[in-house]
Amino acid sequence: MPDISLRERALSLLARFYGYHSFRPGQAEIIETVASGRDAVAIMPTGGGKSLCYQLPALLADGCGIVVSPLIALMQDQTQGLVANGIPAAAIHSNQDEDANRRIFAAAAAGRIKLLYVSPERLLLDIDRFRALKISLFAIDEAHCISQWGHDFRPDYTQLATIKESFPSTPVIALTATADRLTRDDIIAQLGLRDPYCYMSSFDRPNISLRAYTSPDKRTRIRFIADMARRYPQDSGVVYCLSRKGAEDTCRAITALGVKAVCYHAGMAPEQRDRALKAFLDSSAQVVCATVAFGMGIDKSNIRWVVHCNMPGNIESYYQEIGRAGRDGLPAEAVLFYSYADVVMRRNFANESGQREVNLEKLARMQAYAEARVCRRRILLSYFGEERNCDNCKNPPERFDGTILAQKALSAVMRTGQQVGIVMLTAILRGSQRFDIRQAGYDRLPTFGVGVDLTHAEWIHYITQMLQLGLLEMAYDRNNKLNVTPYGMRILRGQERITLSVCPPPQSYKVKKQSAADAIAAPSSPDKRLFEHLKTVRRQIAAARNIPPYLVFSDATLLEMSERKPRNLIEFMQISGVGEKKAASYAAIFLGEINASRSGDFAQMPKN
Ligand code: ADP
Repeated sequence: MPDISLRERALSLLARFYGYHSFRPGQAEIIETVASGRDAVAIMPTGGGKSLCYQLPALLADGCGIVVSPLIALMQDQTQGLVANGIPAAAIHSNQDEDANRRIFAAAAAGRIKLLYVSPERLLLDIDRFRALKISLFAIDEAHCISQWGHDFRPDYTQLATIKESFPSTPVIALTATADRLTRDDIIAQLGLRDPYCYMSSFDRPNISLRAYTSPDKRTRIRFIADMARRYPQDSGVVYCLSRKGAEDTCRAITALGVKAVCYHAGMAPEQRDRALKAFLDSSAQVVCATVAFGMGIDKSNIRWVVHCNMPGNIESYYQEIGRAGRDGLPAEAVLFYSYADVVMRRNFANESGQREVNLEKLARMQAYAEARVCRRRILLSYFGEERNCDNCKNPPERFDGTILAQKALSAVMRTGQQVGIVMLTAILRGSQRFDIRQAGYDRLPTFGVGVDLTHAEWIHYITQMLQLGLLEMAYDRNNKLNVTPYGMRILRGQERITLSVCPPPQSYKVKKQSAADAIAAPSSPDKRLFEHLKTVRRQIAAARNIPPYLVFSDATLLEMSERKPRNLIEFMQISGVGEKKAASYAAIFLGEINASRSGDFAQMPKN
């Protein structure tokens, strides 16, 4: 039986501190479970609202909630957000001087801290100091780090088993965005959770539109990214690259096109990285070009787009990376560029990894997603989403009888003795005068130049499809040379016909015409000007207080303000995201601006 009074108390704290008026799916049950002392596992996608699942039980109970978190940046982000909402929170970590750590322990012992963040190694190091505190719960954030089955194993996390031994009667909640069953069972076993309540939410994020392209040439890719940044001048974007060099090159190239960008990867000095992160968080840099080192737990609400320049090794990572976009629930875009070079590289990684079989299987699933000619969301999720916001659903690819085209390519592969890879094959088909082609005598083949009517990009597209359809296969153990399969032979001999999908014209790599930005300002949002103005006001406040803009209010909150135009404090506090603390800090300024907008006039920002 749900404890009604517990739920009511939780709702009233939710409104008071966070300014939210209802729980998201799963939150209420998890909060009630933990608040009544039972262990729990919460699996929700990034942006699903995991933080509240441990923060509210900590607010409901006496004492202090301890949150184990793998990254300092993540702890700081969370504590800043809590303090902005009027909740006393702090972090203990080794980058902070010992005096500060001691002061924080003293404050926690005196009951002046509700949530205390700590890294796993610090928790173990200071376990006796923690024993002296009144602890309401332990939350293990990014709990997949404990499992070797997960994609981000951290040895430090395996020591966390001692929590249950040292604090047998304190509830433990494990939180992660990684859904697979193996990882989940491993988390439960390793933490020694007792009969935990497990919640796994839907992974659908219908506000993120999905697209995937075979990677165009570098110039087109860079132009695409720069266009994306221009399309959303007020919002942020993330570019993921496989290598540090890729991240640096991309950053340099888009900077040269006038985009304010920073680079972020594990090869940078910690101070450099912190500076980059800060610039991205406070929006002085619009775009971050990064490797996977970037992003765990980044809670920036106005990331409107994520572009992957290379294919990730598994769907979990991809899902988590694109999940950083659109955390405010407003439309966002995820674009994946993939190539066979990525597949080769990822295969090598998988082959060398400790879990070859598992990782190859995960890679195959990722590849299927990238190459899909059916709904991508369907692949991403285990069921049909109601709203299928994906490129293949919106624009089903146009098809044609590609038998002759395929025969040209297959014949060229056979005549070279199956000795060429994709790029060389394309060059032969297009009649290239490259030295290596002439040297190998390929310029004397009857198939030399038979495909000159198609561009290089078009041939890459069609050969990729022939690989996907199983006419060709790539010999990963023979320098990625192409082989014709028995099915390919039947097509070559004219025993079967084949349908191909038309290569999209180059401009379709362009940023979409109807973009998420347009949708935000679509007819349902009555006052785009006011929304933009409120964003400017927010930026000025953030600059004056030296905090990131999203800590003032999220885009979703400003959008609701511009639509509902509250007239007084009571109406202002009904806007989602306006809690008591933020109302006290900002109501006067924002109400002033909204009132002024009624007469068509925008007030001046008070100077402070
Ligand atoms: P996660 O940790 O699962 O990635 P967060 O806890 O950071 O996600 O939540 C993502 C965003 O959703 C945050 O901006 C948070 O304030 C907001 N949010 C969480 N719960 C609610 C709710 N019940 N109502 C409205 N917004 C919410």
